[in-house]
Amino acid sequence: MRIGVKITLLLVLVVATAMAIATTFSSLAISKAFSTYFKNNAELRLEEMASDIADYYQKNGWKGIDNVFMPGMGRGRGQGGMGMMRQFSASRIIVTDRAGRVVSDTLREKIGQYYEAESGVEVVPIMVDGEKVGALISATTTGKLEENFISSIKMANIKAGMLATILALIVGIYLSKKMSKPLVTLSEAAKKIANRELSHRVPVYTKDEIGEVGAAFNKMAESIEHNELLRKNLIADVAHELRTPLSILRGNLELLQEEIIEPAPEVFASLHEESIRISRLVEDLQSLSHADAGDLKFDFDSEDLAQVVRKVVLELKAEAAKKNIELCAEGATEIYVRMDQYRIGQVLYNLISNAIRYTEQGIVKITINDLPEYVQVEIKDSGTGIAEEYVPFLFDRFYRVEKSRNRFSGGSGLGLAIAKSFVEAHGGRIWVESKIGEGSNFIFSLPKEREQ
Ligand code: ADP
Repeated sequence: MRIGVKITLLLVLVVATAMAIATTFSSLAISKAFSTYFKNNAELRLEEMASDIADYYQKNGWKGIDNVFMPGMGRGRGQGGMGMMRQFSASRIIVTDRAGRVVSDTLREKIGQYYEAESGVEVVPIMVDGEKVGALISATTTGKLEENFISSIKMANIKAGMLATILALIVGIYLSKKMSKPLVTLSEAAKKIANRELSHRVPVYTKDEIGEVGAAFNKMAESIEHNELLRKNLIADVAHELRTPLSILRGNLELLQEEIIEPAPEVFASLHEESIRISRLVEDLQSLSHADAGDLKFDFDSEDLAQVVRKVVLELKAEAAKKNIELCAEGATEIYVRMDQYRIGQVLYNLISNAIRYTEQGIVKITINDLPEYVQVEIKDSGTGIAEEYVPFLFDRFYRVEKSRNRFSGGSGLGLAIAKSFVEAHGGRIWVESKIGEGSNFIFSLPKEREQ
C-alpha cells in the first residue's frame, strides 16, 4: 500500500473513532442529565399540585375535580392554583379518593374505577390536616422526549462526524501528496545516479527532516561525482605517467633490435633507469591504494625520530652535495615518538628529496621541534618556492606545479600525496609555508602519545 493511502486511511480512522467516542459519551451524559432534571422537576411539581388539590378538596370535596384535569383546561376554568398542571398536559394525571377510586383522569378512562399503581408512576398522597384524603398519580414519562432529544443529538454528531471524516480525507490526501512528492523525487534521483547521471541533484525547499534527507542525498551525489572524477583523472594520469618511460624503453629496444644503436653500457643504464621509474610509480600507486582502502600495514612502535632524520639525511647527503646544497639537521637529538619508522622515513625522504630537487644551490635545513602535544618536523629549503595559488593542490595525486620541468627532474607527482596519507595515518598533519623566490617550508607533526 502506498504511503499516501496509509496516511489518509489512518487520519480518517482516527477522526471517525474520535467522533464515535464523543457521540457515545455525550449521549450518555445528556441522557443522565435529562432524566435527573425531569425527575426533580416532576416531583416538585406533583407535590405542589397535591397541595393545590388538597385546597380544592377542602373547599369543594371531589365534586368537579375531573373537569379540572381535562388536558389544557385547568387554567382556562380559573381554578385557583391549577396553572401548574399545564406542565403535565401531555402526560396522564390521575386523582384517587381515600379508597383508591379514580375521581379524575386526564384521559377520562378510569373514572370511577379502582386504580392499581403500576410501576414507573409517581404517587403523591393528598393530605388535609395531616390525614390522607386521596392520592395524586402521575404517569409522566420523560422517555419519549429524552429519546427524541438524544437521537437528535446523535444525528447532529453523526453529521459532524461525516463532515470531519470528509475533512480528514481532504487533509490526508493533501498531506500525503506533500509528503510523498519529495520521496518520489528522491527515488527518481537515486535511479538517475545509479544510471551514472552523476550531476543530478534534488531541489531542497524545506529545512525539516525531508529537506535534510534531500541535502544529504545531494551531498552523497556530490561525493560520488567527485570520486568518479578522481578515479577518471587517476586512470588518465597513470596512463600518462607510464607512457613516457614505456615509449623510451620500447624505442630503445627497437633501435637495439634493428642494430641502429650499439648495445653500449649507457643505453642499458638508461633502460634500467626507465624501468626503475616505472616500478617506483607502481610502488607509489600501490601504497596509495592501500592507504585509501585502509589496509596499509603500519608497524607502530616507540622510535627515535631524530635517529630516523639522521638516517635519511645521510642517504641524501651525496645528492645534495652534487647540487652544492648544504643539508643539515637541527633541534632535538633524541625524541621518541610512536610511529612506523619505515613510513616516516619515507615521508622524510620524499620531503627532503623534493627540497633538494627544487633548490639550486643553497641550504636545506631539517628542524625537529618538541612541542607539548606534538613533535613537529620542518624541512626548509632556499629554493624556488611555490606560488600561493598552487598550494591547495600540492598534496593531490599527480599534481605538479610545472609539469614538464618536474617530469624531467624525475618526480612522479605522488610524493606529497603519499607523505600526507602516511602522516595522517599516524594522526598527524602536514602543510606547507612557501613564498615564491624565498623557498618553501614543509612541516609535519606527529602526536606524542597515540592510542592504538
Ligand atoms: P614530484 O614527484 O613531482 O616532486 P610531489 O608530490 O613530491 O611530486 O610534489 C608535487 C609538486 O609540488 C612538485 O611537482 C613541485 O611542483 C611542488 N613541490 C614539492 N616540493 C617542493 C619544494 N620543496 N619546492 C618547490 N616546489 C615543490
